[in-house]
Amino acid sequence: MTTEAEAFWANVDRENYGHCWIWGGKIHRTGYGQLRWNGRPAYAHRAAYEIVTGTMPIGCALKKRAPCTDKLCVRPEHWVLEVFVSPMHIIQLEKRRDRLKKELEGVESRLALYQRQLKPHDS
Ligand SMILES: [Zn+2]
Repeated sequence: MTTEAEAFWANVDRENYGHCWIWGGKIHRTGYGQLRWNGRPAYAHRAAYEIVTGTMPIGCALKKRAPCTDKLCVRPEHWVLEVFVSPMHIIQLEKRRDRLKKELEGVESRLALYQRQLKPHDS
């Protein structure tokens, strides 16, 4: 576990196993836990999710999972990851898809060329 993760958990009471893990650090005006994470201001529940699952996918949001409604609870199982697709994300995804398609076409044509060169020449 990284030192940053250790510092994170120092702000959380996880002794209450089977129940909520309440953030004891700074609180953002929205009511969610707040901290500096990877050098940037971040919500505590998102950082916890990233520490535990190893990822916080771009274009996704965390929503409270019933019955937990506590914004300060950072326990990952008490949150649901939802895909949040904004018009900007759709444009980015489309651009990436076109680029990927071109890359794949390039690979296929190079492969075909390579196979033609491998073929024994007739006569
Ligand atoms: Zn909870």
